[in-house]
Amino acid sequence: MIEIIENTFRILARVTNSKTAMLLSINNFETSVISFVGENPDKFNEFKKALLHLHKRSSIDVRNVQTFPEYKTIARELSVKSCFIQNVYSIIEQNEAFYIVLFYDAENNHLLPTDESFMAILNILSNQIKQYYSNKYKKSSPLPVADDNFDSDSIIENWENNFTRLLSISDDLIFILDKDGCFLKINDSGVHLLDYKEKEILGKHFIEFIPPERNAEVAGAIVKMLQSNDEVKFKTELRTKVNRNIPIEIRGKAITKNGSVIGMLGIGKDVTQLSRTEKEIKKLQPKLVEANRLISVERARTWQQGSLIEELERLKSEFVSNISHEFRTPLASIIGFSETIVSDPNLPEDMKSEFNHVILNEGKRLAKLINDVLEISVMDEGKITLNKSIIDIVEVVKETVEKNYVSSMKKKITFEFEHPNVEVFVDADREKLGSAFDALINNAIKFTNEDGRVKVIVNNLFKDVEVLISDTGIGIPEKDLPYIFQKFYRVSRPGTEIPGTGIGLVFVKQIVDLHKGLISIQSEIGNGTSFVVKLLKSIKANK
Ligand code: ADP
Repeated sequence: MIEIIENTFRILARVTNSKTAMLLSINNFETSVISFVGENPDKFNEFKKALLHLHKRSSIDVRNVQTFPEYKTIARELSVKSCFIQNVYSIIEQNEAFYIVLFYDAENNHLLPTDESFMAILNILSNQIKQYYSNKYKKSSPLPVADDNFDSDSIIENWENNFTRLLSISDDLIFILDKDGCFLKINDSGVHLLDYKEKEILGKHFIEFIPPERNAEVAGAIVKMLQSNDEVKFKTELRTKVNRNIPIEIRGKAITKNGSVIGMLGIGKDVTQLSRTEKEIKKLQPKLVEANRLISVERARTWQQGSLIEELERLKSEFVSNISHEFRTPLASIIGFSETIVSDPNLPEDMKSEFNHVILNEGKRLAKLINDVLEISVMDEGKITLNKSIIDIVEVVKETVEKNYVSSMKKKITFEFEHPNVEVFVDADREKLGSAFDALINNAIKFTNEDGRVKVIVNNLFKDVEVLISDTGIGIPEKDLPYIFQKFYRVSRPGTEIPGTGIGLVFVKQIVDLHKGLISIQSEIGNGTSFVVKLLKSIKANK
């Protein structure tokens, strides 16, 4: 029928030469488009809203509509010159009205509303709408509501019927058992759940629908229900006709008359989904524990990393203050002694020469310091490279020992060097390896008090060569040993001012590592320290 209406409407749009035409239905809530020709009705949304307002307040006429700002916007945007709107049918009870709205691109349409053919088509359309919509409303008209005189007691009188209806629409299994536990009644959902027909259930004992392995617990629950006046709640499974077990939660209560139990009332909830979820949760539990453990490990690691970064930051700033101090001390003596020489032309020659000597030594110390700092930045960039050749390690160590002889003498340290009487060849960077041994021997002397002993031993082993630098100095606390090769790490020794920057050992370790050697340390506080450097001998030159 609606197609017929649409057809008639299209004919009307064509004969009126409309650019756009709409057949609208307007009720109290909305304006809906039944049919349209031309522009997409979505473009008229604001216009439709305006019509709805007008419809609610009064009837709609074309003059009113043409003054709408919404119409003016459409006219501008869609190049519409004039419009026509007319009610074709109304359903007073529903406050619903049907309108045709025609838009022309001329000032006026050649077919005026008075035109016979126009009127004829409009009539047909009106009749078609009337026929269609009055039928439609008739079909969906609500049930008649009883008037106010209706006796509401009838609802109560009819309670059994009403309750039976209520039970049939409930999703839960609702049942009544007699005092022996046999079904007297079961609602539609229960019958449906168990897959039986109602007559196959009624009269049967409740236990017959329980899987055998759960009979005992259900029998116990029924006895409990019979013995007390309280509600009993239990979980079990019901077995359907096709032997499917359905997990169910049952709440039941005894029905009594004159103090004696005459039956039981129960309501059961299908908890298939719930128990599935519970099982899933149970399965996920270990994963959750695992995830929590991982999170706490990760947290601890982050914390550790954080504290490591903090530690490095602390060491770095300590290094900056140490290095400034290290720079300042030699600089102060250089400047001081030079100033004295410059300002006093009568300075005795021997004193002048002594001062010059100090200036030279302090200058060298400064140069070494600067070299160390540069070395560290080269190491940081991973740019350190070896200039290797086959060298006699005994000779390299010997040179370093000799270099440090004077400073050991100054501290009255017994300085011994033990070595094999043969050449021991290694493939190494002579200069860098020499600097590494120098740093170790330097430390040994630096951290050994007067009258102590420093011993350097070269051990010619089977495949390796071992260089041991041992002292009877102040030693390193056990807790500091793991960090001793870390950049800027210095053992804190309150009260003793031993200069240093904490980069010497970092450099030593890097050099040994680059030679694929091993460095180890043994130390005991107050008793001394031993460093052992192990390197692979060069087979080639040993032949
Ligand atoms: P520094 O420039 O401070 O000497 P190093 O990297 O050479 O830096 O040494 C790091 C720390 O290791 C020093 O601060 C020192 O406390 C300790 N150390 C190194 N060698 C010895 C040693 N032979 N005896 C005692 N302590 C040592």
